Amino acid sequence: MRRTLIKGGRIVTAVDDYVGDLLLEDGRIEAIGRTLDADDAEVHDAAGLLVMPGGVDVHVHMETPMGDGVETCDSFETGTISAAFGGTTTIVDFAQQFRGESPKTALDRRLASAEAQCVIDFGFHSILTDVNPSALAELPDLVNNDGVSSIKLYMAYPDVLMVDDADIYRTMRKVGDHGGMVNLHAENGVVIQAMIEEALEAGNTSPKYHQLTRPQLMEGEATHRVIRIAELAEVPVYIVHLSAKEALDAVVEARDRGIPAFAETCPHYLFLDKSEYDRPGFDAAKFVMTPPLRDHDCQQALWRGLKFDDLQIVSTDHCPFCFNEKAHGLLKSKQLGKDDFSKIPNGAPGVEFRLPLLFDGGVREGRINLNRFVQLIATAPAKMFGLFPRKGTIAVGSDADIVLFDPQEKHILSADTHHSNVDYSLFEGREVTGRVKKVFSRGELIVDGEEWLGKTGRGRFQKRSASGRIL
Ligand SMILES: [Zn+2]
Repeated sequence: MRRTLIKGGRIVTAVDDYVGDLLLEDGRIEAIGRTLDADDAEVHDAAGLLVMPGGVDVHVHMETPMGDGVETCDSFETGTISAAFGGTTTIVDFAQQFRGESPKTALDRRLASAEAQCVIDFGFHSILTDVNPSALAELPDLVNNDGVSSIKLYMAYPDVLMVDDADIYRTMRKVGDHGGMVNLHAENGVVIQAMIEEALEAGNTSPKYHQLTRPQLMEGEATHRVIRIAELAEVPVYIVHLSAKEALDAVVEARDRGIPAFAETCPHYLFLDKSEYDRPGFDAAKFVMTPPLRDHDCQQALWRGLKFDDLQIVSTDHCPFCFNEKAHGLLKSKQLGKDDFSKIPNGAPGVEFRLPLLFDGGVREGRINLNRFVQLIATAPAKMFGLFPRKGTIAVGSDADIVLFDPQEKHILSADTHHSNVDYSLFEGREVTGRVKKVFSRGELIVDGEEWLGKTGRGRFQKRSASGRIL
């Protein structure tokens, strides 16, 4: 029996805030009290530290193939080590169906790799790229028996990932009937494709055109459209990586009418804006993610959305490609698009910096309170995606996924010190206050300051329930 006592920390959940002790036993939280004693327990002094539930990041892409041999540069192992150092103890990644493939086969393929490597717990959303009758027929079992209660569809990337509105409707009907939820990448893919062609024909090939060909209006349009389709299909809908105020307007309008529309945003949309694309040379390619960085106005709108619960979750969309090709090869690097912005792999890293950024820029800057912070990074994602109360809170019987966080310690975010394979950071040189000190995953100390103590493959697949989605 493994017992751990965390003494005298400030225990913070989405609703609580008090000083007390936690007793962890056999991977779970055994007891919470003002003062607890356990003779045989390993004791950790948490005086002056915040004791929070481990972060749940429901949008990451580890070792993800993007076609033509292109792949994200973090393995399940390096990506989850990076997540753990950032205070995240559960990720939900994606199992993408290739055209003509069974979604379950796609899940099995990803499971095999994740089970061998993940150092923290993990789940999967299914991505459908080919909504055919046999794929649809598998969905009830995926949702109710395989623990994959959310299905992601793309309205962007025609001929690669995009499905049409009828397929979105069909998937929503099928998944909704069984209590699951559909997640959408909402951008008008065909108009954007036309704009990309227009730019390239005019000889505009630099990274800046990534942003100029993916306008906020087309995110707003697709978000509005898909919420209306969900309304018709009578199912909840979740918009991933919402970035534009036009898209947020569509979510707010629906929620005001009582429609179960939900959305997440990501740290890069909260802290960076499109001026990054004015960097000289190819450096701007580091910021080529989709959707692109937006107007400064959008940041204000997103913070307001987080504060008033029109946005429920902050995830990272960690989708790392190296800037240079030397480290992990051309196929895992931004250099693929050196002469053509449309060939730059879309995605940026960030899984390690979610907690410190949101704590520093959100809690310390007075935009959100501490309970809301925990809600956004742990509790709401666990609830929305069927992991609660096993994950996402500190309660008797919950998994002992615990972060000890120093709210005073300053540190510099940098690719020199982060733990991802990626060779750059979106936030290079940024000083933040608030730092992850220790991380427990199912009661096991896996991060102790700078030291990594976890074992490869110790992470466990989390079957997610279909019932937990409504907050
Ligand atoms: Zn993504």
